[in-house]
Amino acid sequence: MYQKLKGTYDILPSESDFFRYVMQEVSSIAGLYGYKEIQFPILEYANLFQRGVGDSSDIVVKKEMYVFEDRGHRLVALRPEGTAGAVRLYIENGLHMSGHTQRLFYIGPMFRAENPQAGRYRQFTQFGFELIGDPSPDADVELIAINHHLAKRLGITGVTLYLNSIGCRECRPVYQQRLTEYLTSHKDGLCEDCQMRLTINPLRVLDCKEEICQRIVRQAPLQYEHLCEACQAHFEAVKASLTSLGIAFEIDPYLVRGLDYYNRTVFEFKSASLGAQSTFSAGGRYDYLVKDLGGMDTPATGFAMGMERLAMVIEASTGKKRTDFYRPPFVYVAGIGESLSQAVWQALSFLREHGISATTEFRYTQLKKHLKSADKLRSSYAVLLGEDEVQKGIWTLRNLQTGEQIQDSPAEIVAFLRAKKEKAD
Ligand code: ATP
Ligand code: MG
Repeated sequence: MYQKLKGTYDILPSESDFFRYVMQEVSSIAGLYGYKEIQFPILEYANLFQRGVGDSSDIVVKKEMYVFEDRGHRLVALRPEGTAGAVRLYIENGLHMSGHTQRLFYIGPMFRAENPQAGRYRQFTQFGFELIGDPSPDADVELIAINHHLAKRLGITGVTLYLNSIGCRECRPVYQQRLTEYLTSHKDGLCEDCQMRLTINPLRVLDCKEEICQRIVRQAPLQYEHLCEACQAHFEAVKASLTSLGIAFEIDPYLVRGLDYYNRTVFEFKSASLGAQSTFSAGGRYDYLVKDLGGMDTPATGFAMGMERLAMVIEASTGKKRTDFYRPPFVYVAGIGESLSQAVWQALSFLREHGISATTEFRYTQLKKHLKSADKLRSSYAVLLGEDEVQKGIWTLRNLQTGEQIQDSPAEIVAFLRAKKEKAD
């Protein structure tokens, strides 16, 4: 028997309506905030990501990227995240020429060769929002507000927003120097990955999850105490705007994020319901990336949310399982007797033309078998078609919960069903 790869998962027919529902809510929020969907390839040149996510990111340090040579000996990679591709798209298509800030969103599979755990996969789905071209603190606030709004729409509770500023290319080196001195004096106590990070990007040691590193980090000098005036003002403005919008936050001075391209504002949304992988959304400002990838000097800010962790948070918050979102075909059409296939087809088409989902089992001719199928599918109504109905040009409609039946013309029954369906929606 064939098996799926470790760290991948299947979405079954009973669960897919849940993911569709979440995706619809995401696109609806995107629309409300004026974000337009973009799509870019899953496969890109590997150097886009190497450059994009940076040498000290987990993706590079822990060799999380799926890289291989294609048949033309080009080094390509399965995308590990979306921002690099989005920025590549922005530059390559000259979106800066539009003359307005670009508000973009994407959704799709990402790939990282990680150790699979609950909420951590090798193929997972992320959606991300990117706001390219606006340096103001309120651009950061907008992305946080989108997260907040989405959480509210999806009925998520018990969420905490963690916020930090990691400074800019002016003030970070000064701080980095002090941090490096401190960490170097404790080098032997750090984990292997952090000893490596110490030379590439000591900031990343701050969010190491290893207990031994955390103990050392708790005494380390903090970035937000070393911000330059401009970064300080930016950070204060973000906080003030969030406060006036009524969005609660906690400052986490150790929050630095796993990708190298961030500067100034960084944030994470965590849920107590998630256990170890408690972050379900993360983002921040990345003012240097567009230029680093060959574009013009362009400020930008964004976030990415993991669909699988979001699903876990929704289940934990609402008490609903993903299978509870299953939407059955509303009507089941039962042809009772031989040679009724034409009548069954007519009924199915008529229902579908009026926007009512309908299905049948072509192979059954007995009422009992049809009702069993309808029950398994969890349809709400059945249209029963026998010789008598076909002759009179009417339908018998059975309410599958109560067993109640009525007879009427197809047009009347469809009108009735549409009203019921609207109520159910
Ligand atoms: P983490 O700290 O969880 O490893 P990260 O910093 O590597 O996350 P980002 O690319 O910033 O990852 O991720 C944004 C979001 O994408 C995360 O909050 C999470 O919801 C999701 N995510 C990241 N990696 C995975 C994964 N391997 N499996 C499932 N979801 C993931
Ligand atoms: Mg990671």
